[in-house]
Amino acid sequence: MRHQIHDLLAPLPGTARQIHSFHFGPQPAKGKIYIQSSLHADEMPGMLVAWHLKQRLAELEAAGRLRSEIVLVPVANPAGLEQVLMDVPLGRYELESGQNFNRWFVDLSEEVGNAIEGQLGDDPQRNLELIRDSLRHALARQTASTQLQSQRLTLQRLACDADMVLDLHCDFEAVAHLYTTPEAWPQVEPLARYIGAQASLLATDSGGQSFDECFTLLWWQLKERFGEHFDIPHGSFSVTVELRGQGDVSHPMASLDSQALIDYLIQFGAIAGEPAPLPDLPYPATPLAGVEPVATPVGGLLVFSALPGQYLEAGQLIAEIIDPISDRVTPVHCTAAGLMYARSLRRMATAGMVIAHVAGAEAYRSGYLLSP
Ligand SMILES: [Zn+2]
Repeated sequence: MRHQIHDLLAPLPGTARQIHSFHFGPQPAKGKIYIQSSLHADEMPGMLVAWHLKQRLAELEAAGRLRSEIVLVPVANPAGLEQVLMDVPLGRYELESGQNFNRWFVDLSEEVGNAIEGQLGDDPQRNLELIRDSLRHALARQTASTQLQSQRLTLQRLACDADMVLDLHCDFEAVAHLYTTPEAWPQVEPLARYIGAQASLLATDSGGQSFDECFTLLWWQLKERFGEHFDIPHGSFSVTVELRGQGDVSHPMASLDSQALIDYLIQFGAIAGEPAPLPDLPYPATPLAGVEPVATPVGGLLVFSALPGQYLEAGQLIAEIIDPISDRVTPVHCTAAGLMYARSLRRMATAGMVIAHVAGAEAYRSGYLLSP
């Protein structure tokens, strides 16, 4: 295991932070896997999984079973981790700018496309290496002027040439679920089975230039631009893995999740071994554009009747919103049928607030598909 330390741009004198990456596997290795956790710094289940994984990868490395380089970044957002305001951790948005830590990773598809134009050939492997090389150089040329940009750039540089990128998050109260692209789904489906994903949400471009999409979109856009004349492989695929809810931090669960990731890496060929039998897929993949963000029209005390992981019929009751002054009770229903994979942690809802997400089978939304 090799431990690397990456200095971030210090926002103020005396406040320098670092990203720590742990690199397992032979050198040179066949392929690269990148795994990070807690990019939203108040989402801890993934960090515990990463810690379990760190011990397991060290054992597997000692046993000579790693084929690919596996890069692990257990603390992907040191800047957000320190944002605790009056006993409440606030790890999703940077307090200074209000920006989501998992948005606006730099889009280099045009720059890379311009750089490789005229150099592509018939050999897809050579095209892949050319694109990766160009991407590494383009990222090396980028400069950051804030700590947030510097953190994003550091993570993007570490992951840009990986075959597979796993970004471990969680929701508020939720069952295990994941986000990936329709193009990657055949490769990701075994992960959904091992991890027991009760919803798998697919979109090519959900509009926010999130960490997972900054890699897949680059290859997709190059394929759109040059694919008619040249064989451009999908050089990278990525998955945002949502390891249930914020409170779901326990050793038994993290140990099972870490085993699920190892089973998947064996199945993928990054770790030598006999793949574990594939469990059933709990729920088929559905379009991200089919997710209903169920909002309450009024504010009040939020009393859920539906549980995360529950399949809801169209029009089924999710919660009641109670106004204890007027005694008004407002029922909130879902519109379409689907699996309710996540719900809010708050119990005092404000008018217009999204209280739950239901994965429906039919795409009906378009444009920006993510939460703010
Ligand atoms: Zn998150």
